[in-house]
Amino acid sequence: MEAWPGPGTPRRTSIDVRSKLAEPGRPPTCGPGALKGDPKDSPAIDFNGTHHGDELATPEAMLALADHLITHPDEPEVAKLLEKYAIYLQPVVNPDGLAAQKRKNAEGADLNRAYPYPREWFRFETAPEAELVKDLVDEISPKGAVAFHSGARSVLWPWGYKEETLGDANLELASRVAAEAMGPNFEALQSIQDYKAFGDFADYAYWRHGTIALTFEISNWQILANVGELKEIVATTVRGSMAFMTALDRMPDDPDGNLLTRTLGE
Ligand SMILES: [Zn+2]
Repeated sequence: MEAWPGPGTPRRTSIDVRSKLAEPGRPPTCGPGALKGDPKDSPAIDFNGTHHGDELATPEAMLALADHLITHPDEPEVAKLLEKYAIYLQPVVNPDGLAAQKRKNAEGADLNRAYPYPREWFRFETAPEAELVKDLVDEISPKGAVAFHSGARSVLWPWGYKEETLGDANLELASRVAAEAMGPNFEALQSIQDYKAFGDFADYAYWRHGTIALTFEISNWQILANVGELKEIVATTVRGSMAFMTALDRMPDDPDGNLLTRTLGE
């Protein structure tokens, strides 16, 4: 990661790669990183990919997003976001799964079912990789977050674990703006309308931190057909991510901080 930023890139942008897990003897492929000089001074936005190791477009889309932010510092939208926010990028949550091109981690846990959520007593999985993501989210309490997945073309907002909605206009607005930017093949829906999931990342971040937390399902396919298709997928995802961040920037901050934590129990 020392190669980023390359020559000529403004010095205010940097990537800090944090610790990550992999099986002993195998170097980790890529861990969480943060863009910006001093993340602690800024509100945070978090993106992550590859909770599922067989969703091969998601780490590529994450790297494309990093590339877009680093190589377009003079674009007003990019400049504003980099100036104001600490943008965290975690390309590969599940390095062992990616190496094996399998959904689950080396212990057979589904990492996107391994987060606490309001129905804690009904959690299916625990996993150290999800704990790392959770630790980061707890540390930075991001204003917005997106997890990249593949298997559909949609933008999903919490909850995934129950049908009841909160009527959170910001969640729905961010989803619709992102889906619209990604194109007519993408739809915005509540997560459970896609499928029911207990203990996913977005539910956790929204529940514990009031984060505008979404899931981008960036491609109908998991295994990639060809390079041209991948280029299209990552370009689409970068568009959606930029639209998401711009919409997020226009939302007022929650003055009560973790309001949801106090009011949303089971
Ligand atoms: Zn997935």
